[in-house]
Amino acid sequence: MQPPDGHGMSGVDGEATLLDDARPPYNASTMGTTRASLHTLGCRLNQAETSILGEGLRRKGFELVEFGQPTDVLILNTCSVTEDAERTSRYLIRKTLKHSPHAFIAVTGCYAQTGMETLTHQTGIDLIVGQQFKLDLPAYLPPPHELQKRPTAEVHHTKTISREDFDLPYFAEPDSTRALLKIQDGCSAMCSFCIIPFARGHERSRKLDDILGEVRSLTDGGYKEIVLTGVNIGQYRQQGVDFFTMLRRLDDISDLERIRISSIEPTTVTNELLDLLASSKKFCPYLHIPLQSGDDQILQAMNRRHTIKEYRALIDRAFAKIPDLGLGTDLMVGFPGETDKAFQNTLAVATDLPFSYIHAFPYSTRPGTAAARLKPRVSSPSIKKRTDLLLELDRAKRLAFHNKQIGKTVAVLFEAGTRSAYRFGTTPNFTRVAVTDSADLQNQIMPVTITAATDRYGFGHIASAQAMNSTLALL
Ligand code: SF4
Repeated sequence: MQPPDGHGMSGVDGEATLLDDARPPYNASTMGTTRASLHTLGCRLNQAETSILGEGLRRKGFELVEFGQPTDVLILNTCSVTEDAERTSRYLIRKTLKHSPHAFIAVTGCYAQTGMETLTHQTGIDLIVGQQFKLDLPAYLPPPHELQKRPTAEVHHTKTISREDFDLPYFAEPDSTRALLKIQDGCSAMCSFCIIPFARGHERSRKLDDILGEVRSLTDGGYKEIVLTGVNIGQYRQQGVDFFTMLRRLDDISDLERIRISSIEPTTVTNELLDLLASSKKFCPYLHIPLQSGDDQILQAMNRRHTIKEYRALIDRAFAKIPDLGLGTDLMVGFPGETDKAFQNTLAVATDLPFSYIHAFPYSTRPGTAAARLKPRVSSPSIKKRTDLLLELDRAKRLAFHNKQIGKTVAVLFEAGTRSAYRFGTTPNFTRVAVTDSADLQNQIMPVTITAATDRYGFGHIASAQAMNSTLALL
């Protein structure tokens, strides 16, 4: 794909220079095959997009090597959700240039969008591609035989990001057994702490035919599970097709065995969606529904669009319809104005609700967001203490959830490889399962009887063929 005309800027504000100007330009073609590695920071959506970029690089003639190995090109797909993620991006660039000083460094993703000015000042970066042109990045790379470092970073970036619905340039080979499927991008919710609406732009949806085409290509390739990814997927809306209708179309694809809705905003979980999860043989009984705080005043300051009462009612409805639901959530700790009392409210709600796990993370000020101006700030020691309490609760919740599986025979989709003699896989309700079995189980859905559990895994053994038939009929 050719880059769109008229949007490129070269060497804006500040200059990325060669590490050592005296060094002759490196031409990778003299070394034979030109290697490229990719690395993702942040969310599943970024992971899905990295796979697409990898496919673009392969088509352009690069040989993909594992991140961390010596390379001729690094594509870093960055995150800017926390300050930490931005710091990690800068560190990884320096680290790569240590083992591969001639590597051509291309940076894209949310940090390339929101921190473009800063990145142009960092030594060693050759190409910066903002969100609007992210998937065009392979087209901006020179051909492998012309690759050389640049005195200043070439920049392709616009402040505003198109609101147009989209399709993808390629169907990429997924990086894992469970295939991430991008269906949506951007968010218009404007939660006061969140940089995503600035980093990824307004809500927009992938064209339905393109989604269905990729799912068919995945099932033809033997993939059994797809994981729907986006920023705010419940807001999917494309030429009169809403999220629920799109899900029904996926449900109709005969060879597809599992569909997983991962993170979804509470305001977009409708009764008809819960009914579909309860009745469909394909939709996994699993949802990750961000709560963020258990205190109504904090939720209001966060500009969240739900109250605790509404969230509780939703979870009650969900479990009434889907008793075996695996339910995860996000909780942010130390939002400005979070008093001890407000945090105790969060702890109480999180303890009370039947979460199978909690993703607790400390608030991090994101310049440009509404919350960046809010006071009073919570001290770092308080944030740490509160986060630790939620992490402890998370471990207890995980253990309780896994313990509930003991004695059950569950359907596990196995991943590639082994670790410490264990093979790992995932159940429909998102229990991570480990078995010791000599057979290669990759990409197979097998019945496993769970016999023991820790807070990380359910442990078990492959059930008999007889159990398999009766179990799979039930699942
Ligand atoms: S719903 Fe809120 S937290 Fe989630 S991406 Fe949108 S603005 Fe950010």
